[in-house]
Amino acid sequence: MATIVMEKIGRLFINLQQIRQVPQMLREAVPSMPGTLRDGEVPYFFRERHIHAGYRPLHQGWRYYFLTLFQRHNETVNVWTHLLGALLVFMKASQLAETVDFIRDPHAWPLLILLLSSMGYMTCSAVAHLLAAKSELCHYCFFFLDYVGVAQYQYGSAVVHFYYAVEESWHRQVWGIFMPVASFLCCLSCLGCCYGKYRNYSLPPWVRKVGQVVPSAVAYSWDTSPVFQRLGAWVLFHGEPSGNDRALWFHFGQVAFFLSSAFFFTHPLPERLFPGRCDIFGQGHQIFHVLLVFCTLCQIQASHLDYVARRPLYMRLHGDSEAAFFAVLYVITVIACAQIATFMAGKVRQLLSCKEKAK
Ligand SMILES: [Zn+2]
Repeated sequence: MATIVMEKIGRLFINLQQIRQVPQMLREAVPSMPGTLRDGEVPYFFRERHIHAGYRPLHQGWRYYFLTLFQRHNETVNVWTHLLGALLVFMKASQLAETVDFIRDPHAWPLLILLLSSMGYMTCSAVAHLLAAKSELCHYCFFFLDYVGVAQYQYGSAVVHFYYAVEESWHRQVWGIFMPVASFLCCLSCLGCCYGKYRNYSLPPWVRKVGQVVPSAVAYSWDTSPVFQRLGAWVLFHGEPSGNDRALWFHFGQVAFFLSSAFFFTHPLPERLFPGRCDIFGQGHQIFHVLLVFCTLCQIQASHLDYVARRPLYMRLHGDSEAAFFAVLYVITVIACAQIATFMAGKVRQLLSCKEKAK
């Protein structure tokens, strides 16, 4: 017995030794990773306000940028926050799949769209933050991809709110137009964000911000209107959610997390207060990522609770065929946003080649 125990301890010790060797093995596998640079050493368009160091060099091989996933630089936390967020959503989706029949129950498709679009936007964002440092063209193209991710997530949000969270009175007013308008607003905010980025140099910063923020704010207000109406009724008339309306707490959570994330998206805090001291940890954009992940997790939880508790209502409001139409519209919206981003990437390519010729 003692021999078996000793043998197991010995094996465990060997395994621990192997784990301790992993960082060294990684270092040996990547013998010549260039170090990071200061802001003055990278072109202007790569510099972030109040971030003084931790920039990766341009024009390295793709392998280098993939491996910087394990390096300390000023985008590491931005990449990992959304990678881990995507993993959390994936785990939540697997857990839900034990009780929800995502294939045969068409009423579960809006929830499936939300799960897919959430993983989609987090993955696009992680890829953008990881690979955009390669060149100016990559910088534009990968952030256009990020905007496509965000736009299709807006659709995912709209569809669960309209399908599960809507009250009968608001449904009566927006029936037939809600999802087409939501789809149009996804395309508009994708275009606004891409165009704002494309005109980076030639437009004043406030015009660019208006182009990027206003269509997204309009889309958010429209897509979340069913939730606002329900939360408003809760605050005004009930005071406390009834037993089967636990979802309202999570809806409240998603709105609170979204609004606080929007604050950090539009304000470069805390790095403006501590310039050069948030280069690796503590940038406003990192806080924005984390709050957006919390917003998404609350939204998924709220939508699942609505899916379970409000079934008689949404089955009556949407019938049997609307879910299929919304799924098709989701695919059309993704394709349309991808087309917009591809078109804008073409414009960037032209602009960069003109700049190259002018040199
Ligand atoms: Zn980001």
